[in-house]
Amino acid sequence: MQIIKSIDELQSIRKLFVTNPEIGERTVGFIPTMGALHDGHISLIKNARINNDIVIVSIFVNPTQFSQDEDFDKYPKKDKADMKICELCGVDYIFMPTTSMMYQGSDEVLIKAPKISSYILEGEKRPGHFDGVLQVVLKLFNLIQPTDVYFGKKDAQQLFLVSKMIKDLFLAINIVECEIVREQDGLALSSRNIYLSKQERVDALKISKSLKIAAELIGSDELDSKVIIKKMKKIMEGLDIEYIAIVDRSFSNLDTVSLGNTIILVATKVGRPRLLDNIWI
Ligand code: AMP
Repeated sequence: MQIIKSIDELQSIRKLFVTNPEIGERTVGFIPTMGALHDGHISLIKNARINNDIVIVSIFVNPTQFSQDEDFDKYPKKDKADMKICELCGVDYIFMPTTSMMYQGSDEVLIKAPKISSYILEGEKRPGHFDGVLQVVLKLFNLIQPTDVYFGKKDAQQLFLVSKMIKDLFLAINIVECEIVREQDGLALSSRNIYLSKQERVDALKISKSLKIAAELIGSDELDSKVIIKKMKKIMEGLDIEYIAIVDRSFSNLDTVSLGNTIILVATKVGRPRLLDNIWI
């Protein structure tokens, strides 16, 4: 495994590994991350390892997707552990750029996330967040030129918007949607879970529990979104809920659950950490 720390290095290595005439064309699987890797990231890496000749992970905490009052400065950093994890997972290259490498000036050509999906849910709660996400993801795609990219359903709205960017900008990239990885007791893995106190860790279980109850209600033919959300709110009592939403795969609100085309999403603060979870019905 090789650590790539500059864009020049990445570009020259890329020439070697992709256009080696003796070997022929090789597929490149890419997993963009912000580091502090856990089993959720590992499942994306393993998926890429099975399906690609070359696997590249990027570790970059992207400042443009954080607003001023968010946790950019406090985002967990675990470079050494991350390198070990990547090595054990058979990653070929880790790309670890600095902010000044990724953003060369303040007056950049910008990417604007589409209105319909960026001004609701995460987009509404975190203005500008998805502009920053798409900006950095497009830069990384252009640098790495992957064949396949791996994103988690955990960040469902991000997954939707990156897929839409790939489609709208005619990028020749296949996006692979990966299932949410959870702790045994149901809590969705997140780099921010380490900031939960013992009690908050217990309280956070209400999130996955509420999604489980929603799935059970739907299983017993309760398809009315209002009724489902009301039950979920009851289970999540005591948490600082930012939103509970029932949407279709294009992120339009659904009054009635449509089987095979519904995502139920939750965002809530549990103490200081802000946690996201969802379930695809
Ligand atoms: P992050 O490092 O938080 O930017 O996440 C990098 C990628 O890992 C994104 O595509 C996330 O959706 C994905 N991811 C994060 N947590 C999980 C999880 N619990 N299960 C599956 N994928 C995840």
